[in-house]
Amino acid sequence: MNVKNDWTKATRWRLLIQWAFLGWCVFLGVQFALFVGYYQRGGQGAYYPRPPGVEGFLPIGALVSLKAWVTSGYFDPVHPAALVLFLTFLAMALLTRKSFCSWLCPVGTLEEGLWKLGRRVLGRNFRIWYWLDLLLRFCKYALLLFFAKLILLDMPTLALRGFLNAPYWKIADVKMLHFFTGMSTTSLLVIGALALLSLIYRNFWCRYLCPYGALLGVLSFFSPLKIRRAEATCSGCGACSRACPARIDVQHKRAVCSAECTGCLTCVDHCPEPATLAIGLWRRPLPGWGIALVVVGVFSGGVLLGMLSGHWQTSLSHADYLRLIPMAARFGH
Ligand code: SF4
Ligand code: SF4
Repeated sequence: MNVKNDWTKATRWRLLIQWAFLGWCVFLGVQFALFVGYYQRGGQGAYYPRPPGVEGFLPIGALVSLKAWVTSGYFDPVHPAALVLFLTFLAMALLTRKSFCSWLCPVGTLEEGLWKLGRRVLGRNFRIWYWLDLLLRFCKYALLLFFAKLILLDMPTLALRGFLNAPYWKIADVKMLHFFTGMSTTSLLVIGALALLSLIYRNFWCRYLCPYGALLGVLSFFSPLKIRRAEATCSGCGACSRACPARIDVQHKRAVCSAECTGCLTCVDHCPEPATLAIGLWRRPLPGWGIALVVVGVFSGGVLLGMLSGHWQTSLSHADYLRLIPMAARFGH
């Protein structure tokens, strides 16, 4: 079934939002690189403003910020957008399952592009044996537990403040940029291997290794939205199970409660029977475009709330960046 060019299908909207968001992330990255370049030249040449949105790529620091905020009311002023975006994505998971993964995350978009390319070139995507799949899926939860223990359990309040006031955190965004612009051979090899695995297997990184996705998956259990199947009209054709990128056996479930479900609605779009498969708010089915609206609405609402409440722009000054950016390589080694 071709759902790509059908604007009544959620997949069409999802692909549009995914690639537009990826384009926006690339734009932010380029703008941030120009901002950093200005300070690397000692404040010479053209100046480009710093886009706070790049802080969305600092989820581990955001977890430290979250703990500091919850335990002491201290809202980190250095990278406030990191916490705002983190909270926004958590809210998205509570409302619309792991929709961040399939509607917004740039890594998810690239992975989806890769496995679709792999399917086109190789004629199919491969499946890992069931027992190995189970074992590998545990890896992302193990990584999540590792970070949760390290930060949420073991890090005392004083250490939180120490981290959030350290020079390393002040230029964590610059370090992240340098990671991408000056990748080591090891990083290139690891990313290359993951890209190759993603060509063969659907969403290899997301399914097995991403701790962020694991966290969103755990929260998604509380989401009132679920894929629901009407048994009375279901023909049992299995198109939904075959299409599901998360390998969920939709065909045999009345409601999908899996932490792997990203709310991508691919199953819904592939069901040939009218009014049989839908994402529902409790028992009320919602149209695909409704999910698109909720995803974009929650994201925009979170960002707007951060901006209006004064938790968006960094407290670091021109003088701070002039001093810190040329020294970035010295921190964190
Ligand atoms: S069950 Fe449906 S919405 Fe959930 S991941 Fe599978 S295809 Fe996407
Ligand atoms: S695609 Fe629709 S009709 Fe076919 S098994 Fe799934 S829910 Fe039933």
